[in-house]
Amino acid sequence: ATPTALLVGTGRGAQLGILIKGPQILESTRRVDTIVLDKTGTVTTGQMTLVAVHPNENVTDEELLVFAGAAESGSEHPIAKSIVTGARARLLTLPTPESFSSTDGLGVQAIVDGRVVLVGRPSWLSENWSIELPSELKLALSSCESRGQTAVAVAWDGQAQGILAVSDVVKDSSAAAIKEFRRLGLRPVLLTGDNETVARVVGTELGIIDVRAGVLPAEKAEVIRALQLEGRVVAMVGDGVNDAVALATADLGIAMGTGTDVAIEASDLTLIRSDLVAAADAIRLSRRTLSTIK
Ligand code: ADP
Ligand code: MG
Repeated sequence: ATPTALLVGTGRGAQLGILIKGPQILESTRRVDTIVLDKTGTVTTGQMTLVAVHPNENVTDEELLVFAGAAESGSEHPIAKSIVTGARARLLTLPTPESFSSTDGLGVQAIVDGRVVLVGRPSWLSENWSIELPSELKLALSSCESRGQTAVAVAWDGQAQGILAVSDVVKDSSAAAIKEFRRLGLRPVLLTGDNETVARVVGTELGIIDVRAGVLPAEKAEVIRALQLEGRVVAMVGDGVNDAVALATADLGIAMGTGTDVAIEASDLTLIRSDLVAAADAIRLSRRTLSTIK
């Protein structure tokens, strides 16, 4: 998918749907003992659906969706897209925001109909804007999270106006891929900017115990470096802009073919079908290829 992704080595790589950037990559692939997996878009489809709308008592569902949808219309984040799609599916017209900015891994800020609207991580609203959720919304939030849904807070006029929950599904192939990683002696780690509860639900579904949640985009690479300092040889699989530095830091960076260009550029391997099973195939293939060379 990218001009720099050069196909080398055996024709097997191509058959398996793997693009390899250069022959030197096979060596680090062979020594890998830890595989760090980004959650959204890598282990899950990343195609989120709006599943719950919880406004404050003085706000309607429609108002909450119009302001949140308008604020999110400038964002490429899967959460943003699902909110916009959810609002349009309810036949709501979203005004164009007068201004827009987004903070990676935290949320968006926009001016909609003269109001400052925030949509993002509840902890970002509280720590950065001193906006707290009232207790009913806190309850709704934790019940969404315990079901594995990601909930974001929506605020305007300096007050929390509601929460929206989105859900994502684990890819059909992820469970089989993780079993395969274990068979190859690799330790899986789940890494995400999403909150702990949601990440644990996904981890439990897949049998991954080592879950690192609430990690900001800038901190993802630090997690990789810390594992390397423990003496581990780390492969990282990701798809997002927020994964790029971590992918470049890892001993082996693996990008999803459906991922962003930056993630593909930062990686050593690209999985054309965006299927984690291909990552296991790549590691097995490199071990075999090298054992026949040596
Ligand atoms: P991941 O590591 O799973 O890809 P991100 O780092 O992109 O996650 O996002 C982490 C969290 O930041 C999200 O779960 C959400 O709470 C918040 N967030 C990021 N971008 C947005 C956005 N556009 N709208 C609302 N919330 C957002
Ligand atoms: Mg991702």
